[in-house]
Amino acid sequence: MPHILIVEDEAAIADTLIFALQGEGFTTTWLTLGQAALEHQRQTPADLIILDIGLPDITGFETCKQLRRFSEVPVMFLSARDGEIDRVVGLEIGADDYVVKPFSPREVTARVRAILKRIGPSAAPIVFQVDLERMQITYRGQPLSLTRHEFRLLQSLLEQPERVFSREQLLDAVGVPADAGYERNIDSHIKSLRGKLRNVAADAEPIQTHRGLGYSYSPSHG
Ligand code: CA
Repeated sequence: MPHILIVEDEAAIADTLIFALQGEGFTTTWLTLGQAALEHQRQTPADLIILDIGLPDITGFETCKQLRRFSEVPVMFLSARDGEIDRVVGLEIGADDYVVKPFSPREVTARVRAILKRIGPSAAPIVFQVDLERMQITYRGQPLSLTRHEFRLLQSLLEQPERVFSREQLLDAVGVPADAGYERNIDSHIKSLRGKLRNVAADAEPIQTHRGLGYSYSPSHG
């Protein structure tokens, strides 16, 4: 079932959306802050985000701008203002649709369906889920048994898909002081990590090696 992230600080509006979406078979997550939404989308990508423009920390516009640096997830803005400027700005920033309050929940769910249908089944499945509090990473639905270093290493890679990290950058992320043997140190952690990922999916290679450069997480190989 598609997973919808609702970012809205008014509980009554969020409740209405959650009720309507769950009634149509969607799973939902509700957050009230833009920064929290960005963090959530990095860790557990939703299939679509319903984003209020007036949020307590950063605006929905700013949230969407930052989101677009790492995600192509469809975004539907919710706005209290029915202004043409908002509409144009919203679409320029990279939103897929735009709903003005007060809205009918049926209208919102219909538009959500339409957007998801338009983008098709290519919406990437959730491959990794990171639980920072419990320091637990789930891969294709299976919790991984990771050492502290492996957890930090994988978490850093997952945070920025396709970014090539040098060994020094990864060491820094893991919190290990660089010494003479640091390159082999990182390589052995990556090797062990890959072994654990292969136990879940033998044919996938989500961690890519870039010769002479380092490593990256590649969702298309996950
Ligand atoms: Ca609001």
